[in-house]
Amino acid sequence: MKTLKIAIQKSGRLNEKSVDLLKNCGLNFENYKSSLISPVSNFPLEILFLRDDDIPEYVQDGIADLGIVGENVIQETEVDVAYLQRLGFGKCSLKIAVQNTSNIEDVKELNGKSIATTYPVILGKFLKDNGITADIRTISGSVEISPGLGLSDAICDLVSTGGTLKSNGLKPFADVMSSEAVLIGRKGSENEDLIQELIQRVQSVLRAKETKYVVLNIERKNLDEILKLLPGVKSPTVVPLADEGWVAVHTVIPERDFWARITLLKQAGAQGIVVMPIEKIIL
Ligand code: ATP
Ligand code: MG
Repeated sequence: MKTLKIAIQKSGRLNEKSVDLLKNCGLNFENYKSSLISPVSNFPLEILFLRDDDIPEYVQDGIADLGIVGENVIQETEVDVAYLQRLGFGKCSLKIAVQNTSNIEDVKELNGKSIATTYPVILGKFLKDNGITADIRTISGSVEISPGLGLSDAICDLVSTGGTLKSNGLKPFADVMSSEAVLIGRKGSENEDLIQELIQRVQSVLRAKETKYVVLNIERKNLDEILKLLPGVKSPTVVPLADEGWVAVHTVIPERDFWARITLLKQAGAQGIVVMPIEKIIL
């Protein structure tokens, strides 16, 4: 049987979450920092550990069948790959920032200015779309110190919390793109069945992360009210308790409005609420 290859970041911001995701998909492999390639013992798959910049091209050229990488890197390398699944981690935005003391406040005011970045392709398109002509200075790192050194009037860099900008006396004022880690694949791969199986495993892990398993006790007379508070769930399981007036309700609740729901359930008489993480949800 053909062995698939998936490329993930060797070390850096996406490494740990990429490894965790693959392990949660039930894949067994060693994560030695020194190895560039690691076989999976219970699935026809090999994991390639690479610099993130190389991942999109490896996938486009068919050296890897799949890859996990930030959208920012995909767009910067301008490759033609299939977006298979957004992964919900590695979230950040590419922003233009200037020094706190600068009076530039609008994108239009960047005309004729210089902007330092490690993302010249994405920035170039953004400036063109906004009808701006600016001098893009491509540097390979530590972009945030360039205005302070007098190398550029502005920077275009990735921001997650904004802490690095702040500590370098910079303020962001324009969003160029937002990004997260995505699972990509080569267009027209001949290993569709195996790839589909992996995508389904990934999706079952992501779905599980978004939901909690909840068990609660409620007086039978209040059951209807509780069931009304659990929309979206086709049929929660209702189990009789030893005390005949009471039942236990088992259901799943989306993580995002979790606390609001719990409060409403308590107000409706729910007691002994137990919340558990879910490992996988297979539809
Ligand atoms: P490599 O050695 O693999 O080339 P790198 O230094 O280019 O690593 P990292 O800094 O590890 O890359 O970031 C990897 C990805 O993490 C980015 O391309 C981006 O998609 C995402 N990311 C999330 N938050 C941030 C952030 N605050 N700064 C930079 N990247 C971020
Ligand atoms: Mg890189």
